[in-house]
Amino acid sequence: MLSMPERVAFLLLVLVCGALAYRGFGRIVKIVQQGRGAERTNGLAGRFAKAFFEVLLQKPVFKARPLVSLLHAFIFFGFSFYLLVNVNDLLEAFVSGWTTIGKGSPGGGQVWQVLAGVFNLAADLLSVFVLVGMIGLLIRRFIGKPKVLGFNTNVTLHPKVAAGGVRRDSLIVGIFILLHVGARWLGTAFHLAEKGHGDPWLPTASLISGAFRGMSPSALETGVHVCWWLAMGLIVLFLLYFPRSKHLHLMVAPLNIALERKTSRGLLDGVADASSPGARTLTDLSWPQVLDGWACIQCNRCQEVCPAHAAGTPLSPAALEINKRYFMNDNAGALAAGDHGAQGDGANLLDFATSVDAVWSCTTCYACVRVCPVGNESMMDLIDLRRGLVFDGETPDEMAEVLRSLDEKGNSFGDSPRKRARWAKKGLDFKIKNAAKEPVEYLWYVGDFASYNPDCQEISLKVARILESAGIDFGILYEKEKSAGNDARRAGEEGLFEALAEQNVATLEACEFEKIFTTDPHTFNALKNEYGPHGGKYEHIQHYSTLLLELMRDGKISLNGGLGGRATYHDPCYLGRYNGGFEAPREVIRACGVELVEMPRNRENSFCCGAGGGRIWMKDHDDMTERPSENRIREALDLGEIDYFVVACPKDLTMYRDAVKTSGNEGEIVVKDIADFVSEAMGRGSEAS
Ligand code: SF4
Ligand code: SF4
Repeated sequence: MLSMPERVAFLLLVLVCGALAYRGFGRIVKIVQQGRGAERTNGLAGRFAKAFFEVLLQKPVFKARPLVSLLHAFIFFGFSFYLLVNVNDLLEAFVSGWTTIGKGSPGGGQVWQVLAGVFNLAADLLSVFVLVGMIGLLIRRFIGKPKVLGFNTNVTLHPKVAAGGVRRDSLIVGIFILLHVGARWLGTAFHLAEKGHGDPWLPTASLISGAFRGMSPSALETGVHVCWWLAMGLIVLFLLYFPRSKHLHLMVAPLNIALERKTSRGLLDGVADASSPGARTLTDLSWPQVLDGWACIQCNRCQEVCPAHAAGTPLSPAALEINKRYFMNDNAGALAAGDHGAQGDGANLLDFATSVDAVWSCTTCYACVRVCPVGNESMMDLIDLRRGLVFDGETPDEMAEVLRSLDEKGNSFGDSPRKRARWAKKGLDFKIKNAAKEPVEYLWYVGDFASYNPDCQEISLKVARILESAGIDFGILYEKEKSAGNDARRAGEEGLFEALAEQNVATLEACEFEKIFTTDPHTFNALKNEYGPHGGKYEHIQHYSTLLLELMRDGKISLNGGLGGRATYHDPCYLGRYNGGFEAPREVIRACGVELVEMPRNRENSFCCGAGGGRIWMKDHDDMTERPSENRIREALDLGEIDYFVVACPKDLTMYRDAVKTSGNEGEIVVKDIADFVSEAMGRGSEAS
């Protein structure tokens, strides 16, 4: 179809643009290779097979925003099919007589005629899908201007991002897709007009071709050529911009998903270099973390679910990835050459990617990682940055004090270890066994909050009485128990976590028990996921919600009828999102005869209370407009006629009791622990100490 000069021009364009794009991709590879090592290449075939099906089904995209995801799916399926369409169009241009247009046979005929018909039909319909999807997304971004695509004003932004770089990039990519697919679609219509008749296998192009029928043959021929160049020439020209654009996710996102971390969510990667832990510059990040910047599609889904951003703090996991990408694009030549000093002081991640305040605002709730459609792990960057700050002695004062207390006293309250079990000694009319001294079936790892906080001690007493009346052989470690270290690790104090883990593993090794349970989801996560590398592998470890449920099912806890009332349940991040503990607490609540009503954000989509990652030890950021816990209470009250806000975590108990007061909702809703319900349903009233 193309004339000889056109063919030569096209091949020259491919050569020049291909070479420049190759250089762009090469730089990306070199920069990623400079990230620190990470084991992501085990079981490659399985990884890629899984990623292929996930991407094919658009599973990571449909985790949120169903309508936007549907529009994206239109573009994804259309664009994927266009790989074939582009090959066909090249054959049409370079092989005399090659065309599928008008060659399909609806009534059957030879196999290739049927294939041509199916190909034409798919290309025709998917072209329309892509156009509809792209126009829909452009309308959303540029006319709808959803707030979620913006950032809090205090978020660190790369100058180009602050100047609207993301919008510009989206517009360029959107126009490219519209021109590429739209031109191909119109080109087919010109073809059909040249032939003088429609094609049932090309229904929409046939419809459009009617508008061109009155044109002269030379005008139609020109239309065909112009459209071919717009469709195919443009794609070659776009190669120049491709490595810099968000469209790069087309290649990097599936790769990122295939190479994602396969360890459990609750297990953090250790530090690579104990003499200088954490991250300060790009090369301190692991290579998958560097790759995250280029995989990012700039959708802000992570930011939308981030409790810290919603609260008005300077943290945006989206901005972190976007800033990384803009920085790497701007300095690609020098970075690829290994010249990280060329950017001067600005090479520090805390100069261009995010801010110190943002780093300390993270609650490590994992919501950003879970929702990201391309498998990015922004939270890991924040934890690595904390590790660097802690090692360099730049820990915020209140956090430093708690870490010191953990180190010296083994608890976050700065209290004497001897007082750890005072709640049990003073509040019970029976003695809990000392699991450090005598064998027990269940070793109860109580945790700091449930041991030292007065509100939480009340729940600990109820749990103890429930277990005692169920005839369970259980014990606690008394002063031998120390913080499990989950939050110390998330605060960036890797050395302290390791010391605590090793001491606790040694303590547990000296005990005789069959199972461990804990009333604290943070402790649960550490014991279940993080003690393995320190020699602590516990097969039977459970959260008290599953233990209570088991005891009910086994008839060891008998309930005296339904309590009544309407409750909503808050999933603690470290029980739910991290460890999949969604159903047991709900079943316990229902078993107590309380009607359970779900908040819109539940289970995997639960909204963090704001306490995790050591945030409970820190004061609120000055820019905070609404605490995450108050936001959550508002969500519960919006359900209407809710009596109880139910938790299964000691930190949640304190956070939400506080939030009910500070949000002025005392008397509107009562915060209860699942153990409160069980105790009351057993006819023990609301007895406490
Ligand atoms: S882990 Fe939670 S708080 Fe931290 S950046 Fe992600 S969503 Fe925000
Ligand atoms: S990190 Fe993931 S969720 Fe966040 S903006 Fe980038 S692609 Fe979207």
